[in-house]
Amino acid sequence: MFKEFSLCEPLLRAVEELGYTQPTPIQARAIPVVLEGRDLLAAAQTGTGKTAAFALPLLERLQAKGARQRSPRALILVPTRELAAQVSESCRALARYLPLRGALIFGGVSANPQLQALSAGVDLVIATPGRLLDHLQSRAIDLSQIELLVLDEADRMLDMGFIRAIRRILAALPKQRQSLLFSATFSEEIRSLANGILRDPVTIEVAPRNAPPELVDHRVYHVEAGGKHSLLSSLLVDGDVRQCLVFTRTKHGANRLAERLQRDGLACAAIHGNKSQAARTRALDDFKQGRIRVLVATDIAARGLDISELPQVVNFELPHVPEDYVHRIGRTGRAGASGEAISLVSREERDRLRAIERLLGRTIAVAA
Ligand code: AMP
Repeated sequence: MFKEFSLCEPLLRAVEELGYTQPTPIQARAIPVVLEGRDLLAAAQTGTGKTAAFALPLLERLQAKGARQRSPRALILVPTRELAAQVSESCRALARYLPLRGALIFGGVSANPQLQALSAGVDLVIATPGRLLDHLQSRAIDLSQIELLVLDEADRMLDMGFIRAIRRILAALPKQRQSLLFSATFSEEIRSLANGILRDPVTIEVAPRNAPPELVDHRVYHVEAGGKHSLLSSLLVDGDVRQCLVFTRTKHGANRLAERLQRDGLACAAIHGNKSQAARTRALDDFKQGRIRVLVATDIAARGLDISELPQVVNFELPHVPEDYVHRIGRTGRAGASGEAISLVSREERDRLRAIERLLGRTIAVAA
């Protein structure tokens, strides 16, 4: 029960209104630790409730310290604009009865509204590292009062090459602070980043809510690279797939595939890092509303997308890193629903398929 945590009444009321009755495992374990003021190293993927696991105790600590000051006291760093928007939405919903103010900072959009928000004074900043560093360098933001730092999806921030930006941001923070690091995996790199940031952390690992083997039906089609598009098109036209998220490895590949599927008469859009924020938001909204059936995405763009009840994920190309396969299919079969993961595998990709099967601990059935 959330009431068992020492959270203030306005937060408990918001939690109740959001329909959260039981804390998820990561929430049950992380919230008391963060409220105690300890540093935290947590392995948890999207879908486990990790956002509220750090947002609830963070908001509690902010409100307990009282009135708003000019400089922010909490900083949440995330890898992508989409995740920034999603985390901000969660914080806003949880803080709806608290007098706290937040600023959302990411690139690809005009800096002016962000600068205005900052100059009005904020308690909490949610940011991607690149744009935050810009604001830091132009002295538009003062990070010297940060008491609480969260690195969310830290593994992805490293994959995206944000390590130098992160180090420069860290150098602008007070040494005396509480730090939380969330990551889907604990690689060597993550452990070394954590060693440099966290002091005597509590470590928590929870299983993904939708552990892939239980809820997702995996299938492989062996097909030559040149035959993938027509196979996918016929699966979409003749099969009974209502909606699917299709993964390609590159932005270029995503664009090209989306164009070809459109020519086949399928309502389709591509989403990747080169698209403007407005275009990405529109594509995602169209997809959620069912106006488009196929959303073609790169791994990075898809990270942090919260799409419920997605019946199918298609790997048009297998990822280089086997863990990305698990991330991809983590988007289907959510909330206990069963989902389907289809992979189109060319001869050149057979090694990657074997690496994925080793990670899953099982072979993937070949479609007839
Ligand atoms: P996250 O892993 O933070 O992306 O959260 C995944 C989804 O679970 C979000 O849509 C949350 O609103 C929802 N959620 C988080 N905590 C709970 C909870 N305790 N009970 C029910 N739903 C939750």
